[in-house]
Amino acid sequence: MLRRFRPYFRYLKSNRGTLFAAVFYGLLFGATNGLGLPVLIQYVFPLIFNTTDPHALSRNEVILTTAAVPMLFLLRAVTSFLNSYYVQLTGVRILEAVRLDYFRKLQLLPLSFLQRESSGDLLSRGIADSAQLQSTLTLIANDGVKQPMALIGAIGFLAWQAFTTDGAATVLVCLAIVPLTVLPVHYVGKKVVHRARQVQDQLGDVSAQLSENLAAAREVRAFGLEQRETERFGQATNRLITAQMKVVKYAQALTPSIELLSSVGIAATLIFAYYAEVKLETFLAIITALYLCYEPIKKLGYLNSELNRGAASLERLEYVLDEPVTITDPANPVPVTKLRGDIAFQGVTFSYGDSPALKNITASIPAGTVCALVGPSGAGKSTFANLVPRFFEAGAGAVTIDGTDVRAMRLADLRRNIALVSQEPVLFNDTIYNNLALGKTGATRDEIIAAARSAHAHEFIEKLPQGYDTIVGERGALLSGGQKQRIAIARAFLRHAPILILDEATSALDSDSEAAVQDALRQLVQGKTVLIIAHRFSTIRDASMILVFDRGEIVAQGDHAALYAGNALYKSLYDRQTGTT
Ligand code: ADP
Repeated sequence: MLRRFRPYFRYLKSNRGTLFAAVFYGLLFGATNGLGLPVLIQYVFPLIFNTTDPHALSRNEVILTTAAVPMLFLLRAVTSFLNSYYVQLTGVRILEAVRLDYFRKLQLLPLSFLQRESSGDLLSRGIADSAQLQSTLTLIANDGVKQPMALIGAIGFLAWQAFTTDGAATVLVCLAIVPLTVLPVHYVGKKVVHRARQVQDQLGDVSAQLSENLAAAREVRAFGLEQRETERFGQATNRLITAQMKVVKYAQALTPSIELLSSVGIAATLIFAYYAEVKLETFLAIITALYLCYEPIKKLGYLNSELNRGAASLERLEYVLDEPVTITDPANPVPVTKLRGDIAFQGVTFSYGDSPALKNITASIPAGTVCALVGPSGAGKSTFANLVPRFFEAGAGAVTIDGTDVRAMRLADLRRNIALVSQEPVLFNDTIYNNLALGKTGATRDEIIAAARSAHAHEFIEKLPQGYDTIVGERGALLSGGQKQRIAIARAFLRHAPILILDEATSALDSDSEAAVQDALRQLVQGKTVLIIAHRFSTIRDASMILVFDRGEIVAQGDHAALYAGNALYKSLYDRQTGTT
């Protein structure tokens, strides 16, 4: 089981110093705990409770002798504190490292992976499962050393007693009970791993529903789904609780079982003690040492179930951490600075699952062309556009820019040459200024303001209470759709990229914004190779080239007049939009 965690001990390695401190104080604590108390009972107490000569000690001797008790507990307290402190410190550092690795991985994974997985579940893996892994790793690091030491200390004391004191038989009988307590530990461990996996899965489910619900807040209200959503969430939390209680049942049955077994051990010891005429202090010391044996065993049992829980979480983290990053830089990239923008698709096929979303697409879009992608929903327009910045990888065929396969360029070089304005631009919860500055690293304030002016955004930004320093709220919630669009357009201006991918908004903007956005876009597309996923025929009519998509294929190509006259699908789409029919 421990082997499972071996690759992850590298997280411990970078915290060697604190871990060493944790283990060192843990060992001291273990020794104080396992050995200290029995020694106290065996050697200190008899001096005080001396039945043959009650006043054999001087006053100073009494004070010195009894001082051993607080001294022992002081040592125990200090080592326990320092041990826990350093364990926690190691723990939070591991957590930080695991989360960072997880997050870093999420940045690299192909979009197709992120679209496939539920974001709530990915969230839960990053938060809850990494926390579980932290607790497991620190527990291994800590109790994995400390508890065996405490056990060895206590067993050592018992063995020593066995050889030096009368009643060795008693000791041996007591010791015989110890290995028996391992039985329930092993049995419970097997049960726990399976249940723990269920708990983490259910936890992922609960987060997934929560995040889905938050994302769909408007729909929930509009369709009156509040009750249904609450019930659905209630069911998910209920399944979570059921799974959690199953883990609790097994984990909590462990301690009582071990204690029950120990009480049998004590009873057996009493019988032997009676016949072997063992002295009370010897008996008490042995019982204490025995109890101190059970304690580490119990902890090790807990460690075992914690290991199982950790393994379940690890599995869920590895699902993401081990997912191959399929879209990567080539080994020998073609050097690229500024592209011209000749885009070509050569026999490109792409599928998300079984059926292809694009079938053997061949198209050529010369630099400087404003190309509208038209077709019914689901025809493959977005997929086509997404292949250019290599968000997805062509299954067959090749996408080239200026004659170079996009797979032969470094991702950063390729994407620096592409600007993107999406249908619903996402803004970060930051100032408008910083949101604009994303468009280009190292942009100056003048450049940013110039871009905002070109995008017709400057006027409304100036009117905001804090101007460019206004915080836009999560996902830009404080701005209207048209304003967000204009910020996104300004970013694209700033980027100065030869290729522009434009996903036109389907929902209507307010008429002021609409005019401003259209005007800004007209300027933005100047001199660029533009792919517009077009929903408005006003835009389409202005395009110099139109590709008509249907069920993953390009069925026609040309300008508006030619297509309207010669292509039935295009004509029907156009007429439906403009309300001619
Ligand atoms: P359009 O942009 O023309 O509306 P898309 O390119 O989005 O069409 O989709 C083309 C096809 O691929 C559709 O049949 C759609 O159902 C499918 N599709 C799109 N995105 C995904 C995805 N992330 N996973 C699975 N199938 C997808």
